[in-house]
Amino acid sequence: MTNCIFCSIIKGDIPAEKLYEDDKVLAFKDVNAQAPEHFLVIPKEHISTPNDATDEALLGKLNTTAVMIAKERGFSESGYRLVMNCNSDGCQSVFHIHLHCLGGRQLNWPPG
Ligand code: AMP
Repeated sequence: MTNCIFCSIIKGDIPAEKLYEDDKVLAFKDVNAQAPEHFLVIPKEHISTPNDATDEALLGKLNTTAVMIAKERGFSESGYRLVMNCNSDGCQSVFHIHLHCLGGRQLNWPPG
């Protein structure tokens, strides 16, 4: 989709620190990290919000990809948080769905 920053990252028009890529998903470090480990997993297909996401296999793949990377990067046992924000109350700012994975420190709960 035009004017989507994450579609531009997928196309290679905008640089990103990629951690994993296959035909369905891409993972890269969040440019404004909120924890020592903070990356995003996105589908290559443009889906604007979680409300528009109906492909259960793809949603599962976002999750399993995040877990795989957390294991590879050595923080799966200490723990992490997976979160997908939706629309204004959820503080979604990029309208191409993305699963945040945050870890590497004790996270606060509730997040606020
Ligand atoms: P959200 O508020 O859930 O929509 O999160 C969007 C996330 O995308 C934020 O954590 C941003 O820091 C991150 N972000 C925005 N642009 C980029 C970019 N070009 N590369 C990496 N992360 C980005």
